[in-house]
Amino acid sequence: MTQQSQTPPPITPPLPQPESDFYWDKCKEHELWFRHCKACNKNYFYPRDICPECFSRNTDWVQSSGKGTLYTFAIVHRGPIPAFRDRAPYVTAMVELEGGVCMPTNLVEVEPDPSAIKIGMEVEVVFDDMDDKISLPKFRPAS
Ligand SMILES: [Zn+2]
Repeated sequence: MTQQSQTPPPITPPLPQPESDFYWDKCKEHELWFRHCKACNKNYFYPRDICPECFSRNTDWVQSSGKGTLYTFAIVHRGPIPAFRDRAPYVTAMVELEGGVCMPTNLVEVEPDPSAIKIGMEVEVVFDDMDDKISLPKFRPAS
């Protein structure tokens, strides 16, 4: 039997697609952007060219303030795959950004304890530089 390494395997970064290259390029610059539909005037996330509300291709990019509120969260005590197992506990979350879009993310810089995390709390984006291409937007309690 071989000795297992104490270092968890790396987390595989997201794989940018042509529709999301702009999004990831801006994340690398520590800016958060989402999509806006000029036909129905709705904002949406995740980034894609076709509006999920009205299917128009008359869409554009909008820069987020990086501020939002916590819509919901879950504290993960047992990571689902080896890369996450030794990182538990951690907090998965849905954040509603100013502008009305909701995005999946992680809540960081907070105790992974329900007494420290409240639905509706104000949060702000921070970026986790995974490698030279991907910076993941995560959120922390607003200062
Ligand atoms: Zn639309």
